[in-house]
Amino acid sequence: MSILMVAFLGACSSDESPDESAKAQTQVAQAAESNSRGKVVILGFDGVDPGIVQSMMDAGELENLSKLAQQGTFKKLGSSNPPQSPTAWSSFTTSKHPGNHGIYDFLRRNPANYRPGVGFGSAQPAVLNPDGSLRRAPSFKNFRKGKSFWKIASDQSAKSKILSVPFAFPADSLEDGCMLAGLGVPDIRGTSSWFAYLSDTFTEHESISGGDKIPIVFENDKATIQMEGLKIPKSRPAKYATAPMDLEVNRDQKSVTVSLPSTTVTVKEGEWTDWLEWEFNVTEKYSVHAISRIHILEVGEAVRLYMTCMQFDPSHPYMEFTSPPEYSQELKDRYGNFKTIGWIFDTHALRQGGLTQDIFLEDVENTMTWRETLTLDELDRGNVDLLISAWTGTDRVGHMFWHHRDAKHPLYTEEGNKKYGRAVENTYSKMDSIVGKVMEKLSDDDLLLIVSDHGFHSFRRGFNVNTWLIRNGYLAVNGEPDSATATNTNRFLFKNPDGTGGYNWSKTKAYSIGLGSIFLNLKGREGEGIVDAADADALRNEIRGKLLALKDPQSGDAVFTEVYTSDFYQGRVTSNAPDLQLGYAEGFQSTKDAAAGVAPADLFEDNMDTWSGEHAASDMSHSAGVFFSNKAIKSDSPHLVDIGVTALTYLGKKVPGDLEGKSLF
Ligand SMILES: [Zn+2]
Repeated sequence: MSILMVAFLGACSSDESPDESAKAQTQVAQAAESNSRGKVVILGFDGVDPGIVQSMMDAGELENLSKLAQQGTFKKLGSSNPPQSPTAWSSFTTSKHPGNHGIYDFLRRNPANYRPGVGFGSAQPAVLNPDGSLRRAPSFKNFRKGKSFWKIASDQSAKSKILSVPFAFPADSLEDGCMLAGLGVPDIRGTSSWFAYLSDTFTEHESISGGDKIPIVFENDKATIQMEGLKIPKSRPAKYATAPMDLEVNRDQKSVTVSLPSTTVTVKEGEWTDWLEWEFNVTEKYSVHAISRIHILEVGEAVRLYMTCMQFDPSHPYMEFTSPPEYSQELKDRYGNFKTIGWIFDTHALRQGGLTQDIFLEDVENTMTWRETLTLDELDRGNVDLLISAWTGTDRVGHMFWHHRDAKHPLYTEEGNKKYGRAVENTYSKMDSIVGKVMEKLSDDDLLLIVSDHGFHSFRRGFNVNTWLIRNGYLAVNGEPDSATATNTNRFLFKNPDGTGGYNWSKTKAYSIGLGSIFLNLKGREGEGIVDAADADALRNEIRGKLLALKDPQSGDAVFTEVYTSDFYQGRVTSNAPDLQLGYAEGFQSTKDAAAGVAPADLFEDNMDTWSGEHAASDMSHSAGVFFSNKAIKSDSPHLVDIGVTALTYLGKKVPGDLEGKSLF
């Protein structure tokens, strides 16, 4: 056994070196004292809707979850406000409401200059020395305030295994345990996921939402492409470190041979390559490793390939994403390369035609199975008081396949319904099968909790919030004084480079950026604020009242069931809280344009995007997730913030006074 292997075995394994064995035994004894009630296993499934779960159980499906409902508990689980994943999972993780963890949206604006950025954290690229060597490794800072409850448990010597909990990145260092970070882990570019769509039918390199279209120029059916890896630090205009990929197609065989400096592989149309290992030489003294896979979409007259984002290589991760750091190599030793990207299902490529619905669903199935295997293996390996494992396939299929199940959706077709109308249900059946396999491994003393962070709704009609604010005199556009016709096409609240265009802050009282937030242009907070603090309450209430009265002229339906004002958010980190949080009625959401701060001409539009299910700015009062347990609980209204407190209490650990949840038992 090499020194390296000893280190790996220590990462998250029941095998221990003799030195560590004594220490471990003491810890086991301590744990046994406090943990007479067995272990706690929490399985998280993103975006599982209680209505669909109920109707499936009524139809005799979801055998294992039904068993839990009969023997223990099935209830709705209160979500966060807004009921979107960064906010909700941060409430799960910290047992705190957004007012105390500070994560309100996928986007967070800097009020001083109105610039938006990623809402839950920011990636810092590598810093290089003048000679090109690495001075400071790249890193990620999570904006979330508050410790994770598993860190609190681990600090009290609970042995913990934390697998892919969304938005819990970077991984916590745990006393005796391991953590694999999930959603939030970027690709080597620092984006949530940047795919490549390659074809000899493309004439030029073009950036599209979430990826690049890359032309392949064949000569005698051979081509070499310089694939872009990550941006070279401080390069302006941006330059990317590249690595070569040779392609050779055999059109008769419908196959492509892909050659990288390290490997050559031949795959047929409809197949995936195995993981390709890349090395990008950023400078002579600093190189970055990555892995990706290629799916051969078409080899015939046209050649079309889809390539996943360049994700961290578990052997040489661009940033640490496991705890201990060696755990990523341990997983690679066990399973080979694996998806390390947080945004694990490529919805961007599916929306852009770079992936088909069938391939996407097959990938969801396979990836859910991979996580199932990991979870069952970690249970089998033992040495665990608290195991948490989470899946996001349930949510992504909801987002991308909802139009097939909602006859009122503008993209609904009977053909689509026949083929994909049960895609969401199928992921719920997969969840049920995972739950069943985990149940088999637990004893009566163990506590099993199944949670989802929010429910789901159809997204049929988009509302342009900024257009509405303009039409109602709250938002002004530079150079377009007529509020009846003014529009703004600039994204993310930017002005044109020459200072024209964008919004006129000196005449703006309120603006919207993000999935469902309205901010006042407040004096002293916003860089060019004009609203006095003394007038803010009245203004918030005035806007709220008008929005609640708003009807969609097409259907006559109310657009909002509630609009929450900032006093909803109480706590220590409310400076980023929205002044108004929209609570859309079923069927409505902000348009993608509105989320980016844009104001198109029309107030409403049909949602013609296959991103057709949504929950991000739905009224939280009808967007609960689900809660199952193998034991009966005493609370009628469990909430996400209760889960951590319940786990700590069950494990016999102290619950810090600043946690806002309560134990469910
Ligand atoms: Zn979610």
